[in-house]
Amino acid sequence: MATNRTFTMLKPDSVEKGHIGAILEKINAAGFRIAAMKMTQMTVADAKAFYAVHSERPFYGELVEFMSSGPIVAAILEKNNAVEDFRVLIGATNPADAAEGTIRKLYASSMGENAVHGSDSDENAAIEGAFHFSGREIF
Ligand code: UDP
Ligand code: MG
Repeated sequence: MATNRTFTMLKPDSVEKGHIGAILEKINAAGFRIAAMKMTQMTVADAKAFYAVHSERPFYGELVEFMSSGPIVAAILEKNNAVEDFRVLIGATNPADAAEGTIRKLYASSMGENAVHGSDSDENAAIEGAFHFSGREIF
């Protein structure tokens, strides 16, 4: 069952470079409603748990280190077809392959430091949203 919600993080590179406002503007312009949002920083243990699905991949250590290296902006976004439409808005994982106008094309600097996270399924959107937000932080 589609929930029409997805989960995103503006990654430490986006926060560090001052891109929070510009990225939120793209998200608003694309028609997403912000259902939850906060600035937070993941511990190494948090990042390991969040990305546990990638624990066997060669980039896992670097990914955990990067994602816990500084503050992020976490958000739950609402829109029809949210998961798929948000993946289109952010573009390919590697910014070199990301389409013109996508968030990663505009703001990502590498495959690892690629500006934003976007859930890959309704099921993961719910799990990831619950990882960062309690019930009374979601509107
Ligand atoms: N990543 C990386 N190297 C890779 C693949 C992924 O550093 O070869 C990082 C990158 O930050 C990516 C995250 O791991 O966003 C999760 O990977 P995934 O394949 O789920 O990409 P996404 O869903 O974020 O596009
Ligand atoms: Mg993914």
